[in-house]
Amino acid sequence: MKLFTVGPVEMYDHTRAMGSRQNEYFREPEFSAFLSETSNLLKQALFAPQEYHTIFLASSGTGAMEATVINCFNSADKLLIINGGTFGNYFVNICKKNKIPYDEVILNYGEMLTKNVLDSYSGKKYTALLVNICETSTGQLYDIKLLDSFCKRNGMYLIVDAISSAFADEYKISNYKIHATILSSQKALALPPGLAMVVLSDQIYEERVKISGTNSMYFDFKAYVNNMTRGQTPFTPCIGLLYQLNDMLKHLLEQGIDNKISRTHTLATYFRKQARKNNIQMPVYPLANAVTPVLFSDINAFNLHEKLRDQYSIYINPNGLMPERICRIGHLGNLTEVDYDLLITAINDIMSQMKKEKYTI
Ligand SMILES: *Cc1c(COP(=O)(O)O)cnc(C)c1O
Repeated sequence: MKLFTVGPVEMYDHTRAMGSRQNEYFREPEFSAFLSETSNLLKQALFAPQEYHTIFLASSGTGAMEATVINCFNSADKLLIINGGTFGNYFVNICKKNKIPYDEVILNYGEMLTKNVLDSYSGKKYTALLVNICETSTGQLYDIKLLDSFCKRNGMYLIVDAISSAFADEYKISNYKIHATILSSQKALALPPGLAMVVLSDQIYEERVKISGTNSMYFDFKAYVNNMTRGQTPFTPCIGLLYQLNDMLKHLLEQGIDNKISRTHTLATYFRKQARKNNIQMPVYPLANAVTPVLFSDINAFNLHEKLRDQYSIYINPNGLMPERICRIGHLGNLTEVDYDLLITAINDIMSQMKKEKYTI
């Protein structure tokens, strides 16, 4: 089995080894020291100021997205959401369900987020901007500089879902004014799913979270921030996943975050070059390093994904939107150029097979 999906991804041997460890009892000083260290490593890896707050949740990424929104905002706010696909739409649904007013910048498939589009929302008294910096469903990487300066000009908080982007594309919190960063374990960190993280600025904590009247008990960030001052979480944390996170962060910092990102870039570029040589089409908007959408006009992309699975045990992401035309190839986790050579060969084999069988659309 080989995973070219965007999450879960191929894990590293050191991560699997960590996963086999007996979980310790956590209400003890030893675990507190471990969690404080892990929090500091996470801030270091994201270039976040020391005074920022880290929150560890036992949930998938979406839980952290919802928790962030309900702890920072309420029905008296007006939010602006970049909605360029599936994950932008998650923010829209979170606001709807929690009755938080919002407007959307809707990007149709293939449409790029430009300064012109964004500037038409300037001066409209929004409280915050919510964005998935890599919209994983399309692979578009939005321009953090553009969004950051828009928010600064308009006095807005910047809330970033960096779930598929952190540690795959450059993401340095202290280079910008990012008030909340949302992460999840199963993407570039290449851990099993189940651990989500939020890094909050001290400013949004003081101005918003601390006085928030959220109705959620489990997702009340005040309790997480208070507990973290002594290296604890209010409820049982996913201890084993935290072992794997701590271990992964040490590996990443040793390798160098910039080196990790350039390695991911190299792999993505390697695949895209091979794909282009084989006449496989890709979108023209700026692509994140995490994932490449591939577009087919002469074969059925969903059937390609099934045949890769059934004949080669290779897994790629089918696409919710236009599944017969598009599938997505991930570049996260323990993959090498050799893996991409095998993938390209397999895709070519199946494509010619499908054309012979007239598996066309
Ligand atoms: C994967 C992903 C999520 C979270 O999905 P979960 O299934 O809840 O972990 C959210 N946003 C983006 C951009 C993602 O890539």
